[in-house]
Amino acid sequence: MNCGNNNTYDDDIEVLFSVGRRFLTGNGLEKDEAKGIEMLSQAASMGHSLAQQLLDRYNAENPEPCKPSKEEDPLTEMLAYNKRFVAERMYEQYATSKYPDRKIAIVTCMDTRLVQLLPAALGIKNGDVKIIKNAGGTITNPFDSTVRSLLVAIYELGVNEVMIIGHTTCGVQGMDGAEMLNLMRERGIDEEHISLMKHCGIDLESWLHGFDETDAAILETVDLVKNHPLVPKDVIVKGYIMDSETGELKPIE
Ligand SMILES: [Zn+2]
Repeated sequence: MNCGNNNTYDDDIEVLFSVGRRFLTGNGLEKDEAKGIEMLSQAASMGHSLAQQLLDRYNAENPEPCKPSKEEDPLTEMLAYNKRFVAERMYEQYATSKYPDRKIAIVTCMDTRLVQLLPAALGIKNGDVKIIKNAGGTITNPFDSTVRSLLVAIYELGVNEVMIIGHTTCGVQGMDGAEMLNLMRERGIDEEHISLMKHCGIDLESWLHGFDETDAAILETVDLVKNHPLVPKDVIVKGYIMDSETGELKPIE
Protein backbone atom coordinates (compact mmCIF):
# COMPACT_ATOMS: atom_id res chain seq x y z
CA MET A 1 0.00 0.00 0.00
CA ASN A 2 2.66 2.44 1.08
CA CYS A 3 4.67 1.61 -1.99
CA GLY A 4 1.77 2.56 -4.26
CA ASN A 5 1.17 5.84 -2.40
CA ASN A 6 4.83 6.76 -2.64
CA ASN A 7 4.79 6.15 -6.35
CA THR A 8 1.87 8.53 -6.80
CA TYR A 9 3.65 11.12 -4.64
CA ASP A 10 6.87 10.72 -6.65
CA ASP A 11 4.91 10.94 -9.89
CA ASP A 12 3.33 14.21 -8.73
CA ILE A 13 6.75 15.69 -7.99
CA GLU A 14 8.00 14.50 -11.36
CA VAL A 15 5.05 16.19 -13.13
CA LEU A 16 5.67 19.42 -11.17
CA PHE A 17 9.32 19.29 -12.19
CA SER A 18 8.73 18.58 -15.86
CA VAL A 19 5.88 21.09 -16.33
CA GLY A 20 7.78 23.70 -14.29
CA ARG A 21 10.84 23.21 -16.45
CA ARG A 22 8.77 23.65 -19.61
CA PHE A 23 7.26 26.90 -18.32
CA LEU A 24 10.67 28.19 -17.32
CA THR A 25 12.39 27.40 -20.60
CA GLY A 26 9.41 27.79 -22.94
CA ASN A 27 10.06 24.28 -24.25
CA GLY A 28 6.71 22.91 -25.47
CA LEU A 29 4.68 25.43 -23.43
CA GLU A 30 4.25 29.18 -23.62
CA LYS A 31 7.10 30.59 -21.54
CA ASP A 32 6.01 31.76 -18.07
CA GLU A 33 9.06 32.11 -15.85
CA ALA A 34 7.15 33.02 -12.68
CA LYS A 35 4.94 29.96 -13.00
CA GLY A 36 7.94 27.77 -13.82
CA ILE A 37 9.86 29.03 -10.78
CA GLU A 38 6.85 28.46 -8.56
CA MET A 39 6.40 24.86 -9.71
CA LEU A 40 10.11 24.08 -9.55
CA SER A 41 10.33 25.62 -6.04
CA GLN A 42 7.48 23.36 -4.98
CA ALA A 43 9.17 20.30 -6.49
CA ALA A 44 12.49 21.28 -4.89
CA SER A 45 10.83 21.71 -1.49
CA MET A 46 9.47 18.16 -1.91
CA GLY A 47 13.00 16.89 -2.35
CA HIS A 48 13.48 16.95 -6.15
CA SER A 49 17.19 17.65 -6.44
CA LEU A 50 17.19 18.30 -10.20
CA ALA A 51 14.52 21.00 -9.69
CA GLN A 52 16.77 22.61 -7.08
CA GLN A 53 19.74 22.50 -9.45
CA LEU A 54 17.69 24.08 -12.20
CA LEU A 55 16.55 26.87 -9.83
CA ASP A 56 20.10 27.48 -8.62
CA ARG A 57 21.32 27.74 -12.18
CA TYR A 58 18.46 30.06 -13.13
CA ASN A 59 19.10 32.30 -10.10
CA ALA A 60 22.81 32.45 -10.86
CA GLU A 61 22.12 33.45 -14.46
CA ASN A 62 19.45 36.04 -13.60
CA PRO A 63 20.53 38.97 -11.46
CA GLU A 64 16.95 39.53 -10.29
CA PRO A 65 15.59 36.06 -9.77
CA CYS A 66 11.94 35.61 -10.54
CA LYS A 67 10.32 34.32 -7.38
CA PRO A 68 6.72 33.64 -6.38
CA SER A 69 4.95 36.93 -5.69
CA LYS A 70 4.48 36.38 -1.96
CA GLU A 71 8.26 36.37 -1.49
CA GLU A 72 8.52 39.64 -3.39
CA ASP A 73 6.36 41.57 -0.94
CA PRO A 74 8.91 43.79 0.81
CA LEU A 75 6.67 44.54 3.78
CA THR A 76 6.07 40.86 4.58
CA GLU A 77 9.82 40.33 4.33
CA MET A 78 10.52 43.26 6.67
CA LEU A 79 7.98 42.09 9.26
CA ALA A 80 9.43 38.57 9.21
CA TYR A 81 12.94 40.00 9.60
CA ASN A 82 11.74 42.13 12.50
CA LYS A 83 10.52 39.06 14.41
CA ARG A 84 13.96 37.48 14.00
CA PHE A 85 15.71 40.76 14.91
CA VAL A 86 13.93 40.87 18.26
CA ALA A 87 14.04 37.12 18.94
CA GLU A 88 17.79 36.98 18.34
CA ARG A 89 18.35 40.13 20.42
CA MET A 90 20.12 41.84 17.52
CA TYR A 91 19.03 45.19 19.01
CA GLU A 92 21.55 44.95 21.82
CA GLN A 93 24.36 46.45 19.75
CA TYR A 94 22.25 49.61 19.17
CA ALA A 95 21.48 50.44 22.80
CA THR A 96 21.85 54.17 23.53
CA SER A 97 19.89 57.15 24.94
CA LYS A 98 17.81 59.84 23.27
CA TYR A 99 20.56 62.45 23.83
CA PRO A 100 22.98 62.85 20.89
CA ASP A 101 26.54 62.10 22.10
CA ARG A 102 28.06 64.46 19.52
CA LYS A 103 25.52 67.27 20.16
CA ILE A 104 24.97 67.62 16.41
CA ALA A 105 21.76 67.75 14.36
CA ILE A 106 21.88 66.99 10.64
CA VAL A 107 19.22 68.17 8.18
CA THR A 108 19.48 66.18 4.99
CA CYS A 109 17.60 64.67 2.06
CA MET A 110 15.43 61.56 2.20
CA ASP A 111 17.25 60.20 -0.88
CA THR A 112 17.61 56.40 -0.70
CA ARG A 113 21.28 56.59 -1.68
CA LEU A 114 22.02 58.34 1.61
CA VAL A 115 20.19 55.92 3.92
CA GLN A 116 23.34 54.02 4.87
CA LEU A 117 25.94 56.02 2.96
CA LEU A 118 25.62 59.26 4.96
CA PRO A 119 26.09 57.75 8.44
CA ALA A 120 28.81 55.42 7.13
CA ALA A 121 30.70 58.22 5.36
CA LEU A 122 30.67 60.36 8.52
CA GLY A 123 31.38 57.53 10.96
CA ILE A 124 28.06 58.07 12.70
CA LYS A 125 26.76 55.34 14.96
CA ASN A 126 23.51 54.98 16.83
CA GLY A 127 23.21 57.65 19.53
CA ASP A 128 25.65 60.12 17.93
CA VAL A 129 23.44 62.68 16.19
CA LYS A 130 19.89 63.73 15.37
CA ILE A 131 19.05 63.27 11.69
CA ILE A 132 16.06 65.18 10.26
CA LYS A 133 15.13 64.25 6.73
CA ASN A 134 12.87 65.70 4.08
CA ALA A 135 12.81 65.98 0.29
CA GLY A 136 15.90 68.02 -0.61
CA GLY A 137 17.27 68.56 2.91
CA THR A 138 16.31 72.22 2.77
CA ILE A 139 13.92 74.42 4.73
CA THR A 140 11.55 76.63 2.77
CA ASN A 141 9.29 77.77 5.60
CA PRO A 142 10.64 79.09 8.94
CA PHE A 143 7.81 77.39 10.82
CA ASP A 144 7.74 73.99 9.16
CA SER A 145 8.25 70.67 10.91
CA THR A 146 11.99 70.59 10.17
CA VAL A 147 12.52 73.83 12.10
CA ARG A 148 10.32 72.51 14.90
CA SER A 149 12.49 69.38 15.05
CA LEU A 150 15.64 71.51 15.18
CA LEU A 151 14.22 73.55 18.07
CA VAL A 152 13.48 70.33 19.97
CA ALA A 153 17.01 69.10 19.24
CA ILE A 154 18.56 72.38 20.45
CA TYR A 155 16.45 73.10 23.54
CA GLU A 156 15.47 69.64 24.73
CA LEU A 157 18.30 67.41 23.57
CA GLY A 158 21.45 69.52 23.89
CA VAL A 159 22.36 70.05 20.23
CA ASN A 160 24.78 72.97 19.70
CA GLU A 161 25.72 72.48 16.03
CA VAL A 162 23.51 72.07 12.93
CA MET A 163 24.77 70.61 9.65
CA ILE A 164 22.65 71.18 6.54
CA ILE A 165 23.74 68.46 4.09
CA GLY A 166 22.61 68.53 0.45
CA HIS A 167 23.84 65.99 -2.06
CA THR A 168 24.80 65.68 -5.72
CA THR A 169 22.13 64.80 -8.33
CA CYS A 170 19.33 65.45 -5.83
CA GLY A 171 15.87 64.65 -7.22
CA VAL A 172 14.44 67.86 -5.80
CA GLN A 173 16.76 69.90 -8.02
CA GLY A 174 14.66 70.94 -11.00
CA MET A 175 11.44 69.46 -9.58
CA ASP A 176 8.47 71.08 -11.30
CA GLY A 177 5.42 72.02 -9.22
CA ALA A 178 3.08 72.22 -12.22
CA GLU A 179 4.19 68.76 -13.34
CA MET A 180 3.44 67.29 -9.93
CA LEU A 181 -0.02 68.87 -9.96
CA ASN A 182 -0.61 67.10 -13.27
CA LEU A 183 0.48 63.80 -11.76
CA MET A 184 -2.03 64.41 -8.97
CA ARG A 185 -4.81 64.97 -11.50
CA GLU A 186 -3.82 61.75 -13.27
CA ARG A 187 -4.07 59.89 -9.96
CA GLY A 188 -7.61 61.14 -9.45
CA ILE A 189 -7.16 64.25 -7.28
CA ASP A 190 -10.19 66.45 -7.84
CA GLU A 191 -9.59 69.71 -9.73
CA GLU A 192 -12.05 71.25 -7.26
CA HIS A 193 -9.71 70.50 -4.34
CA ILE A 194 -6.75 71.95 -6.19
CA SER A 195 -8.54 75.19 -7.01
CA LEU A 196 -10.03 75.40 -3.51
CA MET A 197 -6.49 75.44 -2.08
CA LYS A 198 -5.50 78.08 -4.59
CA HIS A 199 -8.48 80.19 -3.51
CA CYS A 200 -7.40 79.85 0.10
CA GLY A 201 -4.14 81.54 -0.85
CA ILE A 202 -1.96 78.43 -0.98
CA ASP A 203 0.49 78.66 -3.87
CA LEU A 204 0.65 74.93 -4.58
CA GLU A 205 2.96 75.28 -7.54
CA SER A 206 5.69 77.05 -5.67
CA TRP A 207 5.15 74.88 -2.58
CA LEU A 208 5.78 71.77 -4.67
CA HIS A 209 8.54 73.38 -6.71
CA GLY A 210 12.10 72.15 -6.18
CA PHE A 211 15.27 74.23 -6.18
CA ASP A 212 17.40 75.18 -9.18
CA GLU A 213 20.85 74.94 -7.58
CA THR A 214 21.54 72.64 -4.64
CA ASP A 215 24.44 74.74 -3.28
CA ALA A 216 22.37 77.92 -3.30
CA ALA A 217 19.39 76.17 -1.70
CA ILE A 218 21.60 74.77 1.09
CA LEU A 219 23.09 78.23 1.74
CA GLU A 220 19.61 79.74 1.91
CA THR A 221 18.64 77.13 4.48
CA VAL A 222 21.82 77.81 6.50
CA ASP A 223 20.88 81.47 6.46
CA LEU A 224 17.31 80.77 7.51
CA VAL A 225 18.36 78.64 10.50
CA LYS A 226 21.17 81.03 11.55
CA ASN A 227 18.85 84.03 11.52
CA HIS A 228 15.77 82.29 12.85
CA PRO A 229 14.38 84.36 15.74
CA LEU A 230 13.99 81.25 17.92
CA VAL A 231 17.46 79.76 17.30
CA PRO A 232 20.06 80.90 19.86
CA LYS A 233 23.04 82.79 18.41
CA ASP A 234 25.65 80.39 19.86
CA VAL A 235 24.42 77.48 17.73
CA ILE A 236 26.83 76.76 14.87
CA VAL A 237 25.08 76.28 11.48
CA LYS A 238 27.01 75.17 8.39
CA GLY A 239 26.17 73.90 4.90
CA TYR A 240 27.69 70.91 3.10
CA ILE A 241 27.20 68.86 -0.02
CA MET A 242 27.76 65.10 -0.13
CA ASP A 243 28.71 63.11 -3.21
CA SER A 244 25.82 60.63 -3.60
CA GLU A 245 28.21 57.95 -4.78
CA THR A 246 31.46 58.33 -2.85
CA GLY A 247 30.06 60.00 0.30
CA GLU A 248 32.70 62.76 0.06
CA LEU A 249 31.54 65.76 2.10
CA LYS A 250 32.46 69.29 1.01
CA PRO A 251 31.63 72.44 2.95
CA ILE A 252 29.69 75.12 1.06
CA GLU A 253 30.86 78.65 1.76
ZN1 LIG B 1 17.90 64.66 -2.59
